[in-house]
Amino acid sequence: MTGRFAPTPSGRMHIGNVYAMLGAWLSARKSGDSIRLRIEDIDEPRVVPGAAETMMRDLEWLGLGWDDEPVFQSSRHALYQEALELLSKLSFDEISDIISTGSNDSKPCSTTAGNEAATSEATPLIYPCFCSRADIRAASAPQEGDRFTVYPGTCHRLIANDPQRVKQRLASGDRHSLRIATTDTTIAFHDEVFGNQHYNLAQDIGDTIVRRSDGIYSYQLAVTVDDLDMGITDIVRGRDLLRSNALQIYIRKALIAAGFQSSEPADAAISYAHLPLIDNAAGQRLAKRERSLDLGILTAHG
Ligand code: GLU
Repeated sequence: MTGRFAPTPSGRMHIGNVYAMLGAWLSARKSGDSIRLRIEDIDEPRVVPGAAETMMRDLEWLGLGWDDEPVFQSSRHALYQEALELLSKLSFDEISDIISTGSNDSKPCSTTAGNEAATSEATPLIYPCFCSRADIRAASAPQEGDRFTVYPGTCHRLIANDPQRVKQRLASGDRHSLRIATTDTTIAFHDEVFGNQHYNLAQDIGDTIVRRSDGIYSYQLAVTVDDLDMGITDIVRGRDLLRSNALQIYIRKALIAAGFQSSEPADAAISYAHLPLIDNAAGQRLAKRERSLDLGILTAHG
């Protein structure tokens, strides 16, 4: 098995991040497995200069070492682009078949590449989305408690019903993100902490951004590509990513179907553990601004 630490260098780690890192480290080291460090600095506007180096020093100070060289997402744009191009060759119908039949082999399925005429009207798996946040809010059902919004599908309907209009908007340079369409299927997985999980992709997650309108590859795409590319088979992280795990399993299946080369066999068993989050005394999730529990203050106090 290979585990990973995947911190986002947006500030100093706090006790909650450290708890997740400790869980990941223990899970790997208890059986002598390796653990990799990946600095998740893909969202460059959120990155705080120097935070990655401070996090590495903090992990070392805690005695949580890692193997091999750290991987920086900011240096892997070409890989994310290649993954996106592969996914863009899949149609929505192809992926629906793959997901519903449970087939997970690594043979590339037939793609629209070189066969544009025959399948030009097939709805693509990856489609442009022209919606602003305000458009999405206006068209969405009220949010659930965890503030997760399921995309209402506006631009998925547009590309399915009026692909010419989409072409016109792209040709006129309309600002857009790219979304991955989700199928109406349930992804099931076992979590070592929370037990068996079931998420309906379309209803519980919805079509998700894979490249933002500012050109930045999304967390969901980058993390799935990286876990596959780095051969990660032991995922330990916070409970806030439990729902995302179902989406990442879906994107992973699509990448494998599209022929993305991974260092692990496509059917490698992956262990998932999502750890409860640490709350403050008022029962709210710890926020970065609670400085008293950040590693700067904690290390200063020994
Ligand atoms: N970078 C994410 C975070 O710091 C974790 C991503 C992951 O473990 O998949 O919250």
